Amino acid sequence: MFPVFEDKAFTKSVSPFLMFDYAAPKEFPPNTGKPKGVGQHPHRGFETVTIAFQGEVEHADSLGNVGVIGSGDVQWMTAARGIIHQEFHSKSWGAKGGTFEMAQIWVNLKKEHKMIPPRYQPISVNDITTSPLYKYHEDKECEKAPLEAGSVRIIAGEFAGVKGPATTFSQVDMWDVTINDTESLFEFDTVKGNNVIVFCRRGQFEIQGRSVDPQGVAIMDLGSDATKLVLKATKPNTSILLLAGEVIDEPIAAQGPFVMNSRQEIQQANVDFRSGNFGQ
Ligand code: MN
Repeated sequence: MFPVFEDKAFTKSVSPFLMFDYAAPKEFPPNTGKPKGVGQHPHRGFETVTIAFQGEVEHADSLGNVGVIGSGDVQWMTAARGIIHQEFHSKSWGAKGGTFEMAQIWVNLKKEHKMIPPRYQPISVNDITTSPLYKYHEDKECEKAPLEAGSVRIIAGEFAGVKGPATTFSQVDMWDVTINDTESLFEFDTVKGNNVIVFCRRGQFEIQGRSVDPQGVAIMDLGSDATKLVLKATKPNTSILLLAGEVIDEPIAAQGPFVMNSRQEIQQANVDFRSGNFGQ
């Protein structure tokens, strides 16, 4: 996994997103030994969102949730006051091997939600809603594009009147966009005041005169009134992850897997974790 916005992580300029790690497609040979992944660790004060593009991850947590997310699935985990979990390649997928590609995004919670009970939302590929793209025209209304041009999978938030399945605590849009039509400009309406992040997974696109290649990110500055993003794919089968959300303008105190508002709350998280208050 590599951090997509390393220097901006935990800053107001990408809020409510705290971190964004991406594991680019990688081949794994069949593995019948110990599964690869991350063993038991805690989180407090925010949400982790795991998007499985290729491969399978098996999750188990202190709430008793056990599940496998595979290609196209999303896991939206609200750590809030505390959760302990582990994330490994699933046994069956690991034994076969194959291409593995995932993204994990940390979404901040407002102070009022940091200590609520944790929650787990497994979102299957079939629960995720889709919308056609909309062509941008300078001189007239946008125009619905045929599905061959591409589509939007709405994980969270709302695109062109289509709502995504994830329940969020603050307003968040998370759209998995595929564009095949390299001739047209497409528009994406976000909410006023949101931070907007456009990540290139595959292919290539142009936005505000800038070309973005795989693993590149455009952190947009739309100004305080603008909401419309216009972009053009410059290669067919371009895949884009668009993240937008309400800025949480509160102090951030972060240490490892804990993201709170003050040093004191971080110390408390360490005390609570060590004394077993996060569960098993
Ligand atoms: Mn984790």
